[in-house]
Amino acid sequence: VSVTQALLERNAVHVAKHPGKTASLEPTLRALVLTCADHRVDPAQTLGIQLNEAVVLRNAGGRITPEVLHELAVLVTIAAIEELGSGFELILMQHTDCGMARLSGPEHQNLLAGYFGIEPEEVPGRKVADPVAAVQIDVEQLRGNPFMPSTLQVSGLVYDVENGHVAVVAEPAPLGDAR
Ligand SMILES: [Zn+2]
Repeated sequence: VSVTQALLERNAVHVAKHPGKTASLEPTLRALVLTCADHRVDPAQTLGIQLNEAVVLRNAGGRITPEVLHELAVLVTIAAIEELGSGFELILMQHTDCGMARLSGPEHQNLLAGYFGIEPEEVPGRKVADPVAAVQIDVEQLRGNPFMPSTLQVSGLVYDVENGHVAVVAEPAPLGDAR
């Protein structure tokens, strides 16, 4: 039995619970979670996010990259979130034991430079082996981005894969707030 077949059987359970109507493109929590693609940190489980509640973006490390900024621009447009800043919350969640730490050596600097859209010598500054530092760096990346509305609420979290706890590294605050 393929994994696909097994998952289609699980889908039948979902179909049975589905209300049979289409929910709004705007998530009910008015939130977007950016987190790592790592299967151990799925926000549906770790943050209890239910269907229709939040947009979830996942990439290697849950990092702010040029691609993520492009994704945000497109998602905000298609989700008809006309004023991204008004009450919309962006939650950055990175985690302990992230596989990105395996790329912290100088031999991977070019790979990460391409990923982050920066020069190789700037790569150590992205702290791929330190999620607490990295999530703060990413909040600052957004704060320094002129295309992000100053009223957009942003928070930074670190999930501990060992015990399931989430630590708040950056309290939710509008990007424009001085810290
Ligand atoms: Zn990870």
